[in-house]
Amino acid sequence: MRIKIGYLYPDLMNIYGDHGNILTLVRRCEWRGIPVEVVALNIGDPIAHGEYDMFFMGGGQDREQVMVCRDLQETKGDDIKREIDEGAAALAICGGYQLFGKFYRPFEGDELPGINVFDAHTVAGKKRCIGNVVAKSALGGKQGTVVGFENHSGKTYLGDGCAPLGTVTVGYGNNAEDKTEGAIYRGAIGTYLHGSLLPKNPSIADFLIEKALGRRGSDLPLASLDDSLELAAHAAALKRAVRTH
Ligand code: GLN
Repeated sequence: MRIKIGYLYPDLMNIYGDHGNILTLVRRCEWRGIPVEVVALNIGDPIAHGEYDMFFMGGGQDREQVMVCRDLQETKGDDIKREIDEGAAALAICGGYQLFGKFYRPFEGDELPGINVFDAHTVAGKKRCIGNVVAKSALGGKQGTVVGFENHSGKTYLGDGCAPLGTVTVGYGNNAEDKTEGAIYRGAIGTYLHGSLLPKNPSIADFLIEKALGRRGSDLPLASLDDSLELAAHAAALKRAVRTH
């Protein structure tokens, strides 16, 4: 068993602590004795068929999204989509999530084509959605909720080809209208939740690790970990979100 993670554009798409997601995935593999390798995939870097078990892309502002969009369209977007269709896991946050959809239409400039992992599209909203978020998780898990922090102007609308990650009970979520937050398609998760997401939401981290291992044919259940610290952080974020709502 081993996991190879493709870390997409770490120098361009990484805000509000999104790198913490990679640290969490690496630690939760290491604590279980699962060898894990993280490879930075920058502009111009290709992806070979079957090379990666998981992809991660953090958030970024419109300017970085334009640069990344061009590389995805010219170099590796179709490959990422193919790998996910074939079972690879993925986590895309905010600006990265938007580019994993069909398109992102910012306020200024051209519409940015996405890589069609998620049957979803994004249009810039007039008001920024900023604050703590709590959502009832579609993945269930020990917590049953997903907590994090959002800061986006984009409003994302899901089609029938993907399901929401959760239903918002505090905060804005995908579009501040339909109470959905994020998207799930096979082993890929998109979400607006920074924070970073995974340290406080260990069941999502384990979902991704299980999907990545499944890519290599392993269906063994993950060894359980002492998540007391993670669950305490989750509870504190939940309490703070409700209090500041
Ligand atoms: N530029 C995008 C928006 O504002 C994404 C921002 C982000 O990644 N936090 O919606």
